[in-house]
Amino acid sequence: MSIIGITGGKGGTGKSTVATALAYELAKEYNVLLVDADVDCPNDHLLLGIKRCKVKAVMQRIPIFDLKKCSRCGLCSKACRNNAVVSIKGKYPLLMQPQCNGCGACFFKCPSDAISWGEKEIGRIYSGKNHNINLLSGELAVNEPVSELVVNSLNKIMETKKKQYDFVVIDTAAGTHCPVITALEKCDKVIAVTEPTPLGAHDLKLILDLLKHMGKETRVIVNRSDIGEIRIVKNLLKKYRLGISKKIRFSKKILESYSKGTPIKLDLTGIIGES
Ligand code: SF4
Ligand code: SF4
Repeated sequence: MSIIGITGGKGGTGKSTVATALAYELAKEYNVLLVDADVDCPNDHLLLGIKRCKVKAVMQRIPIFDLKKCSRCGLCSKACRNNAVVSIKGKYPLLMQPQCNGCGACFFKCPSDAISWGEKEIGRIYSGKNHNINLLSGELAVNEPVSELVVNSLNKIMETKKKQYDFVVIDTAAGTHCPVITALEKCDKVIAVTEPTPLGAHDLKLILDLLKHMGKETRVIVNRSDIGEIRIVKNLLKKYRLGISKKIRFSKKILESYSKGTPIKLDLTGIIGES
């Protein structure tokens, strides 16, 4: 069993195109689980024409104020770095739920034991299947800030299921923030997808630094390789002693597949076998 991460420092470089194309190709021969961990904007199900069904809700703790115990001291409001507790002098505190990330600072600061824990739904995990690909897809609810919890929940489900599969392909969000790191933690190999532009190279450097720090075996795919300056990417990769594993040319066929929700066919399996 091998876990392959598809990532990229910059959004819109074609991560999902590569992740779904790789899963599609692998699924012709192997048992494949595709995990869409781009939970702010999951779209692998759309690219593969998969109808998703809800598996579970992802919950986050939130404080509940016991007004009988509350002395209206306002310390909970002062302790909250997210401005999630509004406290007007002499009045009871009021929780602004969307801003609360469940950190617990208010709970520990309260001198009157007036805070206990409740829950709010911050996202959902879905599953589905098509083209012999099993999909797990996480989605953060609108106006919720903590996407990492949804990725964590995906990771936990993936851990319980991974033994059933030959390959797990994880499609991460763009960037180098916590949800991306959480999604990449379990990966054996990572493919960074970029484009041959100064912005693409800049953000590729960020993700390559992260992957080096995490000690991940890394491949690089350049999407829309014929549009832009490929030497920008090549020059950067020299510093990491890496080469370009695959160039994907701009193609009308890829755009057509996008618009129809049909799998994109790219020859990618050789990349994950390279040393
Ligand atoms: S749990 Fe943290 S974020 Fe939520 S209200 Fe309390 S201090 Fe603020
Ligand atoms: S810290 Fe506790 S007692 Fe003080 S206002 Fe908040 S809930 Fe009430």
